[in-house]
Amino acid sequence: MNEVKNVIDLYRNATYCQNCGEKLKLAQDREGKTRALCPACGFILYKNPIPAVAIFVQNEAGEILLIKRGCEPRIGMWALPSGYIEINMSPEENAIAEMQEETGLIGEVEHCIDWFYGYSPIYLRVLSIGFRMKVVGGKLQAGDDAEEARFFALDELPPLAFDAHRHFIKLETGFDAP
Ligand SMILES: [Zn+2]
Repeated sequence: MNEVKNVIDLYRNATYCQNCGEKLKLAQDREGKTRALCPACGFILYKNPIPAVAIFVQNEAGEILLIKRGCEPRIGMWALPSGYIEINMSPEENAIAEMQEETGLIGEVEHCIDWFYGYSPIYLRVLSIGFRMKVVGGKLQAGDDAEEARFFALDELPPLAFDAHRHFIKLETGFDAP
């Protein structure tokens, strides 16, 4: 995993306060941690891992549902249906919504598989939560930012875009996905 070498690098794009528009300054907070602080209104810009969900679904033949990514990062690669968590949705609600948007299938959460702390080429770190889901309706059709959506047999899985998704597949099937 790429290291975050310098805390300054974390804040290189943090220029203006999103609250009042004043220029942010790097300073130590009360715990002695360097943050981007607003000298005018006191707003603190926290840099955190971005939370995401990934959805693991198997059909009756044991095949796994994948989508071909239509946007960055890793555009054109295959992945589990997945997305960043919206502020107004729980992780489970988000998983259900992402599955429907990207694959046309309506799902129910069966259980949480695990979480995975991974590297992101855009946000440095993503904290991904994997859910095993079952299909309860809908019709398989790629949508939203997915170019294709289809089921793959385990031994025919294409190279996957994210370590997190390999981790969830390994836990659910014992199989090392490429
Ligand atoms: Zn401010």
